Amino acid sequence: MAGRQAYDARLAGCLCDECPLRSKRPVGPEGPADADLVIVGEAPGPQEEVRGRPFIGPSGMMLDDLLQKAGTSRDRVFITNALCCRSEVPGETGQGRFELKRYMAWLRTQNVKIKREWKQLKKAGPAPLIKSPFDCCRPRLLAELRWFEDRARDTGRPNGAVVVPVGNYALTALSGKAGIMKYRGAPLEASSLVDEMPSLAACYYARGSPVTAEHE
Ligand code: SF4
Repeated sequence: MAGRQAYDARLAGCLCDECPLRSKRPVGPEGPADADLVIVGEAPGPQEEVRGRPFIGPSGMMLDDLLQKAGTSRDRVFITNALCCRSEVPGETGQGRFELKRYMAWLRTQNVKIKREWKQLKKAGPAPLIKSPFDCCRPRLLAELRWFEDRARDTGRPNGAVVVPVGNYALTALSGKAGIMKYRGAPLEASSLVDEMPSLAACYYARGSPVTAEHE
């Protein structure tokens, strides 16, 4: 499931044709299908985008260090992102050009404009809003987590893996919850049959059912 060659995001379940980041290079997940720990980051950074691998560069070094402290290592962990592509604010040349937060703010502003113009022109039907890349990438993320649920089912274990969203966007993509500082380090769903790992951010315990907001 790792992919250093071109990663086929569409095949993995991404709705790239509807996504505003479809011109970007997607970075796929890495790690064993029998991992007990799944790390979900927000989106690839510059080094990840160039090399086509998740969590390398400074964030990867930090992750490796934290995993080592937690008594595990990268090759035993499944690593993925809420978004496979790196966002870029159109027309922005300054520091915030690749900031995800800025990109999402830009997207919201665009949609407000589109709605207003649609209303002014009295056009019929829903306004053609720009989709959130998180909505487009989420089917792939959920499909990845279902691998672990399927494995749990196949092996008769009631639980899949410990899923650790790193950052607010990852938390929201997985659980619908917002506020990483509030949930940081707190299991959102716990299981006595899954070893509790020291968490890097908020924890989400995937159980033998699809991981969606309604499971909370
Ligand atoms: S972010 Fe996900 S859905 Fe959007 S283009 Fe990239 S891979 Fe496709």
